[in-house]
Amino acid sequence: MDNLELLSEYTLFLKEEKQKGKKVVAFISHDNIPEELLDAAGFIPLRLMFAGNDELMDASHDYLSPSTCAFAQSCIGLFSTKPNHFRFLDLVDYFIVSNHCVSDICASEIISKYFNIPRLNFYLSYTKNENSLKYFKFELLDFKDQLEKIIGIEIKNEALMDSIKKYNNFKKKLLEFNNLNIRGSEKLRILQKAILYGPIFLPELESYTLKFSENQIQNSKDLKDVIITGCSVFLNDYLIELIEEAGGNVISFDTWIGNNYYYQIFEETVINLTKNPFDLLVRRFENNLYGDHSVPNFLENKVSQIEKICQNYLEKTGKKLRIINHIIKFCDHISLMSAYLKEQLQEKGFPVLNLERDYSRANRGQLSTRIEAFLEMV
Ligand code: SF4
Repeated sequence: MDNLELLSEYTLFLKEEKQKGKKVVAFISHDNIPEELLDAAGFIPLRLMFAGNDELMDASHDYLSPSTCAFAQSCIGLFSTKPNHFRFLDLVDYFIVSNHCVSDICASEIISKYFNIPRLNFYLSYTKNENSLKYFKFELLDFKDQLEKIIGIEIKNEALMDSIKKYNNFKKKLLEFNNLNIRGSEKLRILQKAILYGPIFLPELESYTLKFSENQIQNSKDLKDVIITGCSVFLNDYLIELIEEAGGNVISFDTWIGNNYYYQIFEETVINLTKNPFDLLVRRFENNLYGDHSVPNFLENKVSQIEKICQNYLEKTGKKLRIINHIIKFCDHISLMSAYLKEQLQEKGFPVLNLERDYSRANRGQLSTRIEAFLEMV
């Protein structure tokens, strides 16, 4: 199934859910948005995880300057131009305005204001300390209030706990799928689809896991194995194609659509011992030390996490991972830290390519050359 098929299939899915009376809540795809609360309230969470192109980026310039990150530009462009395969965006009932970064908050506010989509607010602290955790819990309760005002009934703790367990199980299965040794393009295609649909995709995910576990790459000595860190590779992006055309294979996605999502899992004992589901969500926020919306020590944590993944891979396969740090142009969070990340990892002997780009088609050739050169050189 190509992405166009996926998008039209997803449109049908959303239409059916709307006919059942469900409301759709969209948000820009990073970590920390409590999907479980949306699920417990009976909403469909719609993660904006679609890459852009020249037209989408250009269409956003009536609202924000071209020095906004290319992903946020494309999100605005999607709402202002509504290309054919994105008509499902007409079905969005609410938009979450959150503050993962400046571009996120600006783009979310613009989408809500100029495209007349009622907003829900969910703000996060950047720091991790006693007060920020209290603040996070306060925001969760406030978010719950906003949802309850819409649905007109209370969201029970039992319903939230059930949703937490459902998402937890789903993420465990995603992690299991992630660990298969298959082509990166196949892996990403299924991960993207799964994360777009959420736990409802679980039976399909399990059958893919079964199918691919019997068809894993046996002899990968000619493939140049890669880990992508930094910004996500969103739906409709051609980056993986370029890496594969250059002889590379992405074995791990250390990004929002990847590790950041399914590494955030609770142990069963933690779930069983915690009475209040909001405490579980606070705990997850506290433990999310590898996301870019986390200070202090994000970089140190990120370096040690990547180092661990690379070491484990070397021990398991005897192969060295090449690291591509994917930087969507004008992404402050990732670009600001890129020089330090590269320096730290290179000092430890890991090859790193800082690959900064936007979604313009004209860049394709240049990107391809840089990736080829990097994979050849190592
Ligand atoms: S600046 Fe980076 S973190 Fe913010 S919306 Fe863009 S890609 Fe996401």
